[in-house]
Amino acid sequence: MPEQKETFLNPQVRQLFDYESWTYSYLVFDPQSLDAVSIDPVLEQHPRDLKLIRELGLKLIYVLETHLHTDHQSGAEKLAETTEAQTAIGRGTGSTTASVLLEDGQELSFGAFSIKALATPGHTPGCMSFQLEGMLFCGDTLFIRSCGRTDFQQGDPRVLYQSIHEKIFRLPPETLVYPGHDYNGIMVSTIGEELRWNTSVGHGISEQDFVEKMKKLHFPDSNSIEEERTLPLSHHAGLHV
Ligand code: FE
Repeated sequence: MPEQKETFLNPQVRQLFDYESWTYSYLVFDPQSLDAVSIDPVLEQHPRDLKLIRELGLKLIYVLETHLHTDHQSGAEKLAETTEAQTAIGRGTGSTTASVLLEDGQELSFGAFSIKALATPGHTPGCMSFQLEGMLFCGDTLFIRSCGRTDFQQGDPRVLYQSIHEKIFRLPPETLVYPGHDYNGIMVSTIGEELRWNTSVGHGISEQDFVEKMKKLHFPDSNSIEEERTLPLSHHAGLHV
C-alpha cells in the first residue's frame, strides 16, 4: 500500500493552558510549510511549548502578544530568543523591545497564511486581537460569556465596549473565538454565540449599562492580583512585565 500522507488545507491550532494563571496560549501553524506563530506564551510553560514546537518540527516565525500581561510572566522574549522568531505586539502598548510594533490592520505572513492584527483597546490601551482564516484570538478583550476587566492597567470600559461591538462583533458570526483566559473550562466559542449569550457585553447590553456595571465590579484578589495592582505598567520591559 502506498504511504498515506495527511494533507491539511487549513492552519492548525494547538490550544495550550497554564493552570497557574488560567491562561490560554496558542500555537498556530501552516501544516505544509510548518511555519508557525505563537500567541501569548507563558514563561513557566516555556519547556512544554518548546518541546511541542520541536516535536511538530515547526519553524516559529513570530511570537505575538495580545497585550502586556500582569497576571502571568510572558514567555515571548524567551521563546523568540530560543527559536530566532520575531516578537510582535501592538504599538499602543508602548513596548520598546518588541521586534515588530503592530498597527491596526497590519498583517504578518507565515507559510501560506497571514494573521491580521486588529486594534481592540479597552482592557488595556494597546490590546490587539489576531484574525486568521475564520478564527479570532482576542486575548483579554472578549472572554467566553464575559470580557476582560477594565479597572486597572489604564483600562476603559467605554473603549472596550466599542472595540467589542464595532470591531469584534462585526466579524462573521461563525468566526471562532479563542480567548486569553477562561475560568469555566470552555475553550472556544463563536462570534454568533457570544452575541447571543454573552450577558456581560452581548446583544441587547447598552454601552451605558456596560460602563456602569464595569465600574461597580470588584474583583477578588486571586493569584497575583495584589501584584498586578502594585506593578507599574512596564513600558521598558515591553513584552516581559
Ligand atoms: Fe490581561
